[in-house]
Amino acid sequence: MSPPITPAEAEVFERFHDAVFVRDMEGNIRFWNCASAKLYGWPSCTALGAHARTLLQCRHEKEHYDAVHARLLADGYWEGELSRLTGTGIRRLVNARWSLRRDASGQPIGVLETGYDISSAKETERHLKASEYRYRNLFQAMAASFWELDFTAVGPKIRALLDAGVHDLEAHFLAHPEVVRDFMQSTQVVDLNDHSVRLFGRGDRTEMLGNIDRYWPDESIQVYARCVVKSLAGQPDNIEVTRMRTLEGKEFECLFTACFSKENIARGVILIGIIDLSELVEARHALEIMQTELAHVARVSILGELSASITHEINQPLTSISTYAQAGLRWLQRPEPDLREVENALVQIVDEAQRTDDVITRIRSMALRRPAQERDLALNEVIQDSLKFTDHELRKNSVRLTTDLATSLPPVRADRVLMQQVIVNLVMNAAQAMACANSSTRELTVRSALLDAREVRLEVLDSGPGIAPGLEGKLFDSFFTTKATGMGMGLPICRSIIEAAGGVIQLANRDDGKGGARVAFTLPALPQSNALGRGFPHAPS
Ligand code: ADP
Repeated sequence: MSPPITPAEAEVFERFHDAVFVRDMEGNIRFWNCASAKLYGWPSCTALGAHARTLLQCRHEKEHYDAVHARLLADGYWEGELSRLTGTGIRRLVNARWSLRRDASGQPIGVLETGYDISSAKETERHLKASEYRYRNLFQAMAASFWELDFTAVGPKIRALLDAGVHDLEAHFLAHPEVVRDFMQSTQVVDLNDHSVRLFGRGDRTEMLGNIDRYWPDESIQVYARCVVKSLAGQPDNIEVTRMRTLEGKEFECLFTACFSKENIARGVILIGIIDLSELVEARHALEIMQTELAHVARVSILGELSASITHEINQPLTSISTYAQAGLRWLQRPEPDLREVENALVQIVDEAQRTDDVITRIRSMALRRPAQERDLALNEVIQDSLKFTDHELRKNSVRLTTDLATSLPPVRADRVLMQQVIVNLVMNAAQAMACANSSTRELTVRSALLDAREVRLEVLDSGPGIAPGLEGKLFDSFFTTKATGMGMGLPICRSIIEAAGGVIQLANRDDGKGGARVAFTLPALPQSNALGRGFPHAPS
């Protein structure tokens, strides 16, 4: 039988990087190049003459060997994947090409195989597939909307702007929203998950592909603009709370996240994630309404406690009005009416009427049900207004009040009526504590101070019994009270008001050697340059 390859062929095959070997029709190896020895770990002295399938423990990955062999005989050629055991006992995946060698009469005399190792490539492919499967599952299963956007058409537009000398893109986008719109029309949705279709669409995924312009209301287009600016600046992401629009035109509040990974940007792709916040916003709104209601109920209940003082406050000017009116009448009824005295009485009546009006306005503002209105406030003024409410109550309970207010305090940002409510509450608590304990000395100090130019502090110090051991941690709990008719909502409401204004409130025993309690709250100080009455940007809520 003639040899399956010529010596010239053998010389060429020796130089191949691929493993080349030749077997005769019985399957015995007749040629074995160096690359075969390297790939399979068998030297040519072992391989030559050995039965190929036995030596290499060959397994066809996809078809049975008999079928493969039949095809080789029919076509003269076969290509596919094989698994083989090396001399070191490792299985390798090989991409093999077989060609049938024939003699001059056309009889098959052997099979020439070239092959190369694809084990690591296969392994990488398997990992890649598994991770793609995992991420696709994640992409689909998450209760958040994910989009893949193609912005390749935007690149040339940005380059054109830069070439035209536009360097401050952010300012340019703000001044030219139509440019941002044009960019959005050039940005395409190429993929999105099922949640996106539920949130934005009408059930048809393909309807949602295409330009992203439709999903952005005018007020949110700068979010897109900032994504462009940040991705160009090499920042990793842009995260904002914004509003977006469904295909049906319904707008909703959402958390928007865009990721600018280098690989994606190089491919002209960005990933965005959108989380619907509308339920959260509604719940927050309902909570705010409840808190406002609760604060209102508590205010009205304080007014109830102060009803004797309020009656007294209003009765006083009314009594004066009556007295001045009678005196005026008497001056008029004289045989020679004294008009100067009458005028004097009338001026007093007007003053007293004004006093009554002020008292009623003050009480009305406390009694009104209204949403909180944050303003720049001078805390000292609010303290003085609040003490007008408690003035009669303190005198009735023989409480000596000392006010120690810091001069030139910076303003704070809060709701005036709510702040008054807090101060009245704290002063009333102190007065009640001293009255209940029957303290012989009843001294109350209301003090304001500026701390480190950053915080304004108000302190209310009393000479009452202080806080009983073990109760410190409970005082701000809802419905905690030690009073027979107490509701236990005063301090929790004070805390929610102070915390909503960015502050902190504490109640403890005095640490200045004097008995009694000290309650203090701090609020962030606004910059001194913010003269009251001038506009001030809203603090983030
Ligand atoms: P209420 O006044 O209805 O009891 P609060 O929430 O205002 O509700 O107060 C809760 C409790 O905190 C009071 O019952 C009292 O025990 C305690 N407390 C508040 N202020 C003082 C104070 N100045 N001195 C001593 N105890 C106080």
